[in-house]
Amino acid sequence: MLHKINKIAVFTSGGDAPGMNAGIRSVVRTCAFHNIECYGVYRGYQGLIEGDFEQMDARSVKGIINKGGTILKSARSQEFRTKEGRKKAYEALTKAGIDAFVVIGGDGSFTGAMIFNQEFDFPVMGIPGTIDNDIFGTTHTLGYDTALNTAVEAIDKIRDTASSHNRLFFIEVMGRDVGHIALNVGVGAGAEEILIPEEDLGLERLLDSLRRSKASGKSSSVVVVAEGDKIGKNVFELADYVEENMTEYEVRVSVLGHMQRGGSPSCFDRVLASRMGVKAVESLLTGKSNYMVGLKNDVIDLTPFDQAVKGKSKINMELIRVSDIMTV
Ligand code: ATP
Repeated sequence: MLHKINKIAVFTSGGDAPGMNAGIRSVVRTCAFHNIECYGVYRGYQGLIEGDFEQMDARSVKGIINKGGTILKSARSQEFRTKEGRKKAYEALTKAGIDAFVVIGGDGSFTGAMIFNQEFDFPVMGIPGTIDNDIFGTTHTLGYDTALNTAVEAIDKIRDTASSHNRLFFIEVMGRDVGHIALNVGVGAGAEEILIPEEDLGLERLLDSLRRSKASGKSSSVVVVAEGDKIGKNVFELADYVEENMTEYEVRVSVLGHMQRGGSPSCFDRVLASRMGVKAVESLLTGKSNYMVGLKNDVIDLTPFDQAVKGKSKINMELIRVSDIMTV
């Protein structure tokens, strides 16, 4: 059914990511540009259920393009996973006269939106916001580029201390299921080895590689490990194993953790968020629903939610080869 859209809600859901605020700003301002009322929903789907909305105009989003996190807060809502919870959300939306929503989040958030759309024939649109870049249908998610820059900067600093003390550093970066961050950051920071969930290097090959690197004259080394890497039980056990078997190195571990989620978004993420917000709102206004906006070959395009959720985002195999060549 074609819906006339007069009021659009926007919210952030799942893990926060830099660039979410720039995305909110873009949705709000695109609505203002088209004379559509816009409502910000606090705390993702939980705020939707509780009717925690606030009308926003072009000026409500001033001064946020450069801010990390999300002014609308984010949440994970168990209640929205239930039919009763989603019914409450639908009632709150219709009570406020809201005709459509844009959700900025990850694949869980898109699954929730897809189910909601099926149940209530309610127009929905998604903007991918997660630092892991693990979403099919876009080469970049909001926050990914910023997280890469944050992690590279941190590793550069760790390398200074590694080389001063002949140390071998294992540095864990985010990436539970995919190794995008580890692979790119590893190449960008000149890591000797990069361990990602997609490739099981094996402990013996890791030791061989580190021994070769030592024999070639390197006095310190950095190994970047994705948190979802399968080679060891965790980065600490991995480091213990290497220390026991390579006594020539002092081994240290650094887990970058949540600092990778924070900080001011990069220019790339701000521009991407601005483009995605425009596309999300204008797609709703032309009657489209149940899609995620994404970047493909530098064009902002739409991918149906079911494909975005089911598809697998793949790492760039060329980068693995580049990394091997760089660590000759
Ligand atoms: P991230 O990549 O940062 O984890 P995400 O969007 O995948 O982000 P989730 O916690 O998986 O984060 O999902 C966010 C919210 O989406 C959940 O708290 C829940 O409210 C809703 N959601 C997820 N899956 C479903 C589902 N199957 N049915 C209904 N709602 C869902």
